[in-house]
Amino acid sequence: MVGVKALRICDIASADYIGREVTLRGWVYRLRKQKGNTFVLLRDDRGSIIQCVFPSYKIDDITRESSVQISGIVKQDARAPEGGIEIAGTNLQVFQVSEKDYPLGEYQSAELLLDNRHLALRTRKMIEIAKIRASMFKFLRQWFSENDWMEVTPPLVVKGSVEGGSTLFKLNYFDDVAFLSQSAQLYLEAMIFSLGPVWSLTSSFRAERSRTVRHLAEFSHLECEAPWVSLRDLLQIQENLVRYTIDKTINERQESLKVLKIDSSQFKELAEPFRKMTYDQAIGGLISLDFQVTEVDGKARTIRWGDDLNIDSERELTRQMTTPLFITGYPTKVKPFYVKENPDQLETSLTFDLLGPRGYGELSSGGMREDNLPALSNRIRQAGLNSVDYGWYLDLRKYGSVEHGGFGMGIERLLRWFIGIEDIKDCVLFPRTMSRISP
Ligand code: ATP
Ligand code: MG
Repeated sequence: MVGVKALRICDIASADYIGREVTLRGWVYRLRKQKGNTFVLLRDDRGSIIQCVFPSYKIDDITRESSVQISGIVKQDARAPEGGIEIAGTNLQVFQVSEKDYPLGEYQSAELLLDNRHLALRTRKMIEIAKIRASMFKFLRQWFSENDWMEVTPPLVVKGSVEGGSTLFKLNYFDDVAFLSQSAQLYLEAMIFSLGPVWSLTSSFRAERSRTVRHLAEFSHLECEAPWVSLRDLLQIQENLVRYTIDKTINERQESLKVLKIDSSQFKELAEPFRKMTYDQAIGGLISLDFQVTEVDGKARTIRWGDDLNIDSERELTRQMTTPLFITGYPTKVKPFYVKENPDQLETSLTFDLLGPRGYGELSSGGMREDNLPALSNRIRQAGLNSVDYGWYLDLRKYGSVEHGGFGMGIERLLRWFIGIEDIKDCVLFPRTMSRISP
């Protein structure tokens, strides 16, 4: 690797190193002092861990999380806690002795870990989640690159809302007001006329006031948009992208999956086509179960046609499923102003949501966009939006409008389902929610 010369623990795992002297840099992950020997678990800068055994008289007063350089002989030892090799230490050099009040012990409350996220990144769980996350980013990007989509970077400070005003973050913009982007979609739509199929992976911001296990105020949003696609094409693109990313990530992150105790055989069925259901079928099924929803005034009633699906109804629909589920044809009125109505079934839209199995719920949303100027102007008006803010967006329907569509997928949602973690805050390194903006 250019510029980085230090050996890592993964480098010395091969048989070539047995019996050789190596020097490793890292941090003291755990320390166990016995009369004769001291066992130092060393964590390197990629989070791998190896046991180093020193005669106790050679070890000064080091502490957990001290930064050190260790030299010693690589030995094979089946009893070694990590990977069957350990280091018979010969020399330990300290860069800095960590202060004794390191706030994280072995068992901590979730809140304490969140308050100390800058340090909790050193825990095994966060290290492995970060690695899986990095692989997902890599393979998502790789899929788009292999399939000839162009990566673009939309602006994150914007004037208009995409997903509705209630979740907009407002900011002072010189002498004006602006918002943090909820979605890149409208900008991606502008790009397809000269750049063809485009995609982006940026932060999106939503001032989500509800505290749920699947909402962040800032999340990593993968979005794509293409001209002359159909709803069917979009489902296929979405399905291929997820399958490819999960397959490759499983392959690359065997070790991380093992540490997190994730059984990758549960993803075998992803090779099969994803399940598909219309919104009508989904609602029909929920009605037959007498599925209850709560009105704004707190009253409960049976779900009915026209209700949006939420975290609870999606959980019910996917609880028993083992592969992702596409739901198509949502009522137009539960979707944002830009969705295209289905000409063959008015009041429903050419849209889909992809739901994660085992109750995980919405992973992505997408569909065809309204490409007709009067229809779109109408919808902007009906949604109570200011058409002045959407002037440029309407231009796209004036000058060479074409059928087009795309989708947006939250990476933390994908990761949450993949690693089987309930709380989405653990799927991002520094979570932002209504009650948390630090560290
Ligand atoms: P939900 O119904 O779960 O609130 P949404 O339908 O409002 O989500 P979309 O506008 O469809 O969300 O955004 C596209 C995708 O972005 C979603 O399918 C989801 O994967 C992700 N996403 C949306 N909002 C959030 C959030 N607050 N935190 C994390 N991911 C999100
Ligand atoms: Mg959605």
